[in-house]
Amino acid sequence: MTISAQDVDRFVPAGELIPLLCSVAELTGDRTLLADEFRPRLELEMIAIPEHGGLSAEVAEEAFERVRNALKRHPASGDIGGQTDLSAEEIIDFLTNGAGDYAGLMKRELGEPVQVTWTKDEVAPERDFVVGIVGAGQSGLAMARELRRLGIDYVLFEAADKVGGTWRWNTYPGCRLDTSTLAYSYSFFQRRDWRHYFAVREEIEDYYIEFAEHEQLLESIQFNSEVTRASWNEGDARWELDVRDTRSGEVSGVLVQALISAVGFVNQPKIPDFKGLDQYRGEKIHSAEWHSGVEYRGKRVNLIGTGASAYQIAPNIVDEVESLTIFQRSAPWMLPAPLYEAEVSPGRQWLMENIPSYYRWLRLWEFWHSTIGKYALTMADPNWSFTESVSEPNQRFRDALVSNIRGQYDGHEDLLGAVIPKYPVGVKRMLRDNGQWARTLQQPHTVLVTEAIESFDEEGIRTVSGDHHRADLTVFATGFHGTNYLGTIDVRGRGGLSLREHWGDESRAYKGVTVPGFPNLFCVAGPNTGLVAIGSQTFMCECGINYITECLRHLFVTGATAIEPTRDAYRDYVKWIEEGNRGMAWAAVPEQSWYRNASGTNTVVWPYPLLTYYELTRSVDEDEVVMTYPASQKASA
Ligand code: NAP
Repeated sequence: MTISAQDVDRFVPAGELIPLLCSVAELTGDRTLLADEFRPRLELEMIAIPEHGGLSAEVAEEAFERVRNALKRHPASGDIGGQTDLSAEEIIDFLTNGAGDYAGLMKRELGEPVQVTWTKDEVAPERDFVVGIVGAGQSGLAMARELRRLGIDYVLFEAADKVGGTWRWNTYPGCRLDTSTLAYSYSFFQRRDWRHYFAVREEIEDYYIEFAEHEQLLESIQFNSEVTRASWNEGDARWELDVRDTRSGEVSGVLVQALISAVGFVNQPKIPDFKGLDQYRGEKIHSAEWHSGVEYRGKRVNLIGTGASAYQIAPNIVDEVESLTIFQRSAPWMLPAPLYEAEVSPGRQWLMENIPSYYRWLRLWEFWHSTIGKYALTMADPNWSFTESVSEPNQRFRDALVSNIRGQYDGHEDLLGAVIPKYPVGVKRMLRDNGQWARTLQQPHTVLVTEAIESFDEEGIRTVSGDHHRADLTVFATGFHGTNYLGTIDVRGRGGLSLREHWGDESRAYKGVTVPGFPNLFCVAGPNTGLVAIGSQTFMCECGINYITECLRHLFVTGATAIEPTRDAYRDYVKWIEEGNRGMAWAAVPEQSWYRNASGTNTVVWPYPLLTYYELTRSVDEDEVVMTYPASQKASA
């Protein structure tokens, strides 16, 4: 590959400085690019990521100049991408400004190949062992890939007819990522050719299809297959599954030695039990059940909810409907994101294509600042007495976001009282703001209703004050039964114990993965692994998978038939999670969210730094698990 000096001058200024320094240093071996004065300076309480990693304008200009010179000196007509003696560790140390604790985590996240250190054939060649995975979304596919690498047989059940999980189901207008595309992709399957900074639904679905093909996962996926019941058979140490064919309704039995839930939190659409809903004669649809036949063009539309889904639907239908009435219970917080709907710039495309590892260092850089993220800004100060924030930094964060909102409502100040959230920042997931929400609310045919809904009737919605809003179509962007984790499967553990009854309204799992009394049941991205103020969900899923494979290895090397956490370990873990969550905005105030059950307990969100989950999921803690052995092994022991 050749690059010209002209292109270097033209495109390098479009790059993110820190990943540019890293990738060009890696490419050319030029250590001066990693000089101390160019090290990024990120602060814990950053409201926005500072330009050029916090370097002053003069230092940044010097660094850009050095990047340009290094590229121009590099054999412009020869091979670009030769080997240098710079190690990934050295560059990571630069990027993290010496955060040594994170070295292992960051190396993994960079996508350095993680070699398989054991396979089932090596540790338990004779053993019959089949794993059942439920769900072919982000977690299930990554899990399948890991089992395949380890030579462990598996079958993956997927209720839909395609892979992609939530990106397969949600087809509403405007559906796209609201976190950075790069950080959302797997560390072990990175791409440089994303079209958007925040990928559209179709791109993400294609990514998962490509991944499944590349890793040869498709042949082990049973599509149109919904697992409805799973029951642990003590004698045989197996899970007995009922799998329903979603087309014929036929149910068949399948036996597996381990069961992995990769169902996620947002798989059970929630339509509130509004009075009179059954009388409504217009079309009604939940956001997650949208299909190409939904008639909204030229129609009067009532949209209920102002969360992540509504926020994408409204701006994408507003220009084509006769009227749009949005029912808001509480306003969302939004982070400014001017590039939210933009296509990747030509400059960035050029850098992605021509500097071999730019995309990896850029992804790692984004991951790194999302690791620090808004964590410190969402920590609750127990002595803080204001209700609209949880600490002084949180109040500063609030002020910055409010100022951004105010700037968008010139001439529409009457809306400000409704669109500025009354609860602290960080209580719920923040959305991305490129001004489209404000534009939507300011349209003459849009009405924002903040009164509670009283009831439905044949023609529309009546609010508590008696106002009536007619609609041909009602869209329920009212979220999911997020705290009813695994709620669509009747899971029965030891002695027929029902998981639903065991959990009650409080789904929990040790390390987010295992539950006592439910041997060889594992959750990827399970209870209390969701993120609000730090990223990325993909990372949490990869960590959970690591812990599951460690558990399986433990089963194979010990000859045990089953593994589960001790009751003490589970109880202590839940207590520790609870303590952590109480110190964070999303659990410190009474405001409800889909992370909290009816009694207000947060069963969805992970409260600690990402590093803590990484370390926790590296290995099996022998004192904290119960192993079950076959009778023959017990007798000979
Ligand atoms: P959501 O965030 O739970 O939002 C549901 C909305 O419906 C909220 O505004 C809620 O009000 C409102 N609502 C619920 N019950 C109501 C009732 N009885 N009366 C009036 N309003 C009611 O659901 P979502 O927007 O579908 O998003 C769920 C999660 O899915 C997100 O947090 C995110 O994790 C994921 N998601 C991601 C993306 C993406 O990456 N692009 C897009 C969509 C969804 P309150 O806020 O007052 O409760």
